Amino acid sequence: MNAPLSDLLDWVIIGGGIHGVHLAVQLIGEAGVAPERLRIIDPGPTLLRSWKRCSANTGMRYLRSPAVHHLDLDPWSLLRYAETVEQREGEARPLFAPPYSRPSVELFAEHCADVVSRYDLEALHIQDTASEITLSCDRVSVALGESGTLSARHVLLAMGAAAQPRWPAWASTLMAHGMHIYHIFDPGFRLAPETWPGRVAVIGGGISGAQAAMRLADGKREVHLIARHALRKHQFDSDSGWVGPKNMRGFTTIRSLKKRRAMIRAARNVGSLPPDVYRELRASMQRDAIQWHQGEVTASSMGSGAMLQIGSERLYVDAILLATGFEDHRPGGALVDRMIESHDLPCASCGFPVVDNHLRWHPRVFVTGPLADLELGPVSRNIIGARRAAERIVPVAQRA
Ligand SMILES: Cc1cc2nc3c(=O)[nH]c(=O)nc-3n(C[C@H](O)[C@H](O)[C@H](O)COP(=O)(O)OP(=O)(O)OC[C@H]3O[C@@H](n4cnc5c(N)ncnc54)[C@H](O)[C@@H]3O)c2cc1C
Repeated sequence: MNAPLSDLLDWVIIGGGIHGVHLAVQLIGEAGVAPERLRIIDPGPTLLRSWKRCSANTGMRYLRSPAVHHLDLDPWSLLRYAETVEQREGEARPLFAPPYSRPSVELFAEHCADVVSRYDLEALHIQDTASEITLSCDRVSVALGESGTLSARHVLLAMGAAAQPRWPAWASTLMAHGMHIYHIFDPGFRLAPETWPGRVAVIGGGISGAQAAMRLADGKREVHLIARHALRKHQFDSDSGWVGPKNMRGFTTIRSLKKRRAMIRAARNVGSLPPDVYRELRASMQRDAIQWHQGEVTASSMGSGAMLQIGSERLYVDAILLATGFEDHRPGGALVDRMIESHDLPCASCGFPVVDNHLRWHPRVFVTGPLADLELGPVSRNIIGARRAAERIVPVAQRA
């Protein structure tokens, strides 16, 4: 039975996304934390809500990462799970795409559901938002929007970056004029191509923009894909050398956090496409299902539509979908700002936490995901970043 919320818990995890869920699995399964002494706070009705929304909106069919990157403990868990699916269903649907056995979104989701169910994590999920964190010598108090206050010996910040979709200034102006303009990662946004009008622009030449443009290009509308740069082809979000010691050994020996931030920026393949998506997009462009435009956008509203100026070219569209990624700000908003101020927590000049080797920002505060950028390097935000975070946190959680 779960401990009453008035009791002192061992761990509170803020954020029930890929990172929060994997760290919960690791704390319970590897560090031996009693499940009833852990809670996950997330506003979604179920865990992993943000991941499901983002992956569904893009229409991605396969993950970009390999099959050993998932939320369970054992690296081979997803591959074994796929064997049981194959035994049950035969080869009715493709479960992986080459290279690196990248799982289908469907298989990954089913495996996530299996992990969440085996660890009974929904029973530990409190559907709410953390609004205040107060640190004292023997505990962390986390005030929630609606469910009172939780106290625990440790808090793990796993808020992710998804709360901060990037809106170019011109796009915000168009929205203020009533234009049909949406960000693919806006909380609450669902992309339903059949409801979109006859002329649409997708902004952003990375994987999400390319996939969304292909979803919209169903022959019923004119689709324009606009990017500031030429198409960039890369298998992964960053070179695979960053997953292990090949690149990380050098990174961790660098003391200057400014240099680390510069290395992270240089290493991330922002706005890039893996080769299979690149090929599909080129094919759509060749058959004129998608029209490609390269350049900076300026825009003005025209009645219910908009005129987009891209260099010397003018384009008239009825609706716009932004696939411009996320802001590179420190996640956590005012909640984290106030905690830094009240408890004098150290930050680098880029605003991100200065944490120790175990991702501890304070004896009672641990971080993962973007908040652990400066320790985990370019892969911090990916699924493998959650696994790397666990390797740092679990040894101290076992002793705590
Ligand atoms: C379309 C897309 C495809 C991707 N594909 C891959 C891939 O193939 N492989 C890979 O390795 N990575 C991939 N990534 C990158 C990364 O794995 C995902 O972005 C992943 O969802 C990040 O997990 P997260 O837990 O950090 O953040 P999220 O999934 O965003 O979860 C964070 C959660 O914290 C909650 N939260 C925030 N603030 C509070 C608060 N104050 N109180 C309570 N809860 C709060 C949010 O509501 C959210 O539910 C992809 C990303 C996107 C957008």
